[in-house]
Amino acid sequence: MLISVASGKGGTGKTLVATSLALSLNSGRRVQFLDCDVEEPNAYIFLKPVVERIEPVYVPVPEVDEKRCTHCNKCSEVCAYHAIAVIPKHILVLPHLCHGCGACSYLCPEDAISEQGREIGIVEAGHSNDMELVQGKLTVGEAMPTPVIRKVKEQINRDGIAIIDVSPGTSCPVVESIRGSDFCLLVTEPTVFGLNDLMLAVETARELGIPCGVVINRAGVGDSKVQEYCAKENIPVLLDIPLDTSIARLYSKGMALVEAMPEWKERFTQLLDSIEEIVLERSSSPKR
Ligand code: SF4
Ligand code: SF4
Repeated sequence: MLISVASGKGGTGKTLVATSLALSLNSGRRVQFLDCDVEEPNAYIFLKPVVERIEPVYVPVPEVDEKRCTHCNKCSEVCAYHAIAVIPKHILVLPHLCHGCGACSYLCPEDAISEQGREIGIVEAGHSNDMELVQGKLTVGEAMPTPVIRKVKEQINRDGIAIIDVSPGTSCPVVESIRGSDFCLLVTEPTVFGLNDLMLAVETARELGIPCGVVINRAGVGDSKVQEYCAKENIPVLLDIPLDTSIARLYSKGMALVEAMPEWKERFTQLLDSIEEIVLERSSSPKR
């Protein structure tokens, strides 16, 4: 089963929930944690893995054989990202703008374009006790997280439970991260900003046909509009985590909630049971 933990809004405690969920799984179950928040992966702080493998991530960028090029301009015309330009008697490639789509090399009538790999990040894999951890790291200054996310997701093993820590927001990296999930757990806070971003995240998950449920972090800090929205939209609120300075203190020290406060383990185990029930019910339902 593949569970993605997303948030819409940043700073809602998504990684706190994702790591505690992973650490609450009963021993004997195969658990994989995939940190797809590749611009700022931080689950390792709480899971403290031993890294065993590092793999670079490349995107293909065009290399032009100027001897074959007739400066016909077709490559420049087809590039949606303005990453290749034909200037008098010369071709200019801007690698940082290139999305590696391959359209220019495919359409070049002179077969003058080949592709070279450009490293944009790495994927690290290792273990934290029995849990396998895979995390992507986009190189600072690079603008394309999705190829790194795809590379992380290539490691998914569906024999057990895989938990994906998704980046905040609802843009391309989030879509790429949650695509294919059996369930999307949305972590929010009961504030106006939390509600606004939750609504966007729900829309995204629904567009992808992924069932979702909500965890309200810092419950008690704002109003009840998040609960009202969830009730109206028939989205289950699966867990409340109260505003508690001792939880915030643990988080700031890089300690996982369920390890520092074991009384939470039971509640996270119940959270997983609820998710599994929803996924099972949905998969056995003829039409949803
Ligand atoms: S499409 Fe090929 S031949 Fe035409 S300008 Fe680009 S590289 Fe040169
Ligand atoms: S590979 Fe795609 S994005 Fe890159 S230069 Fe060619 S057409 Fe543009």
